[in-house]
Amino acid sequence: MIQEKKFRELQQFCNDHEVILVAVSKTKPVEDIKSLYDLGQRVFGENKVQELVDKAAQLPEDTEWHLIGHLQTNKVKQVLPHVHLIHSIDSIRLLNEIEKEAGKLNKKVSVLLQLKIASEDTKYGLSREEADKLVQDYIDGAFPHIIISGLMGMASFSENMEIVRKEFRQLKDYYLLLKLGVLSIHKSFNILSMGMSGDFKLAVEEGSNMIRVGSLLFGER
Ligand SMILES: *Cc1c(COP(=O)(O)O)cnc(C)c1O
Repeated sequence: MIQEKKFRELQQFCNDHEVILVAVSKTKPVEDIKSLYDLGQRVFGENKVQELVDKAAQLPEDTEWHLIGHLQTNKVKQVLPHVHLIHSIDSIRLLNEIEKEAGKLNKKVSVLLQLKIASEDTKYGLSREEADKLVQDYIDGAFPHIIISGLMGMASFSENMEIVRKEFRQLKDYYLLLKLGVLSIHKSFNILSMGMSGDFKLAVEEGSNMIRVGSLLFGER
């Protein structure tokens, strides 16, 4: 069941703050996605390749699909024709694979670097050092078929909003450091993807311009 009233409110909030809303539809049926599509939503986020590809086939062409979950290198080829933005670059190996497959398709692929910002142990994400290295390789021309469009991060699942705020702020600071520094001539570096159902307001306060919201729109999973 989609939460129409919540969607309207969130749409207004995103308009007011110039934030892009990614409706996270993972595990939810195609009918729910169509309902939201009919209300005007065009950007949807999935965390599994097969699910994204299956759903993409059942929605209109102008639906924009974002991959927000960990991407295995052996699934890159399958997802590239359908995906508008990959939020979850968490290794150089993955970026190399995307470069290779995008080259074969003669296509440019937009991605975000996923940074590990949570204090709790999380499986996926780049450290600052890894991200620095990757960005340097990018500047040096190692990835001609890739556009690094920004950064993504997930804060700790914590009740303590000051911890969450601090993590968002760290990501924002790094984003600005790159944007105003080594990537300043790369105008397409302009997305800061942070904030989910429980913390999107805080994330936007801290400078997010893309939020990934699931349960608030589609109900609990
Ligand atoms: C599931 C998921 C979300 C959405 O989470 P909700 O709490 O349902 O809003 C956002 N980002 C990522 C990476 C996710 O996996």
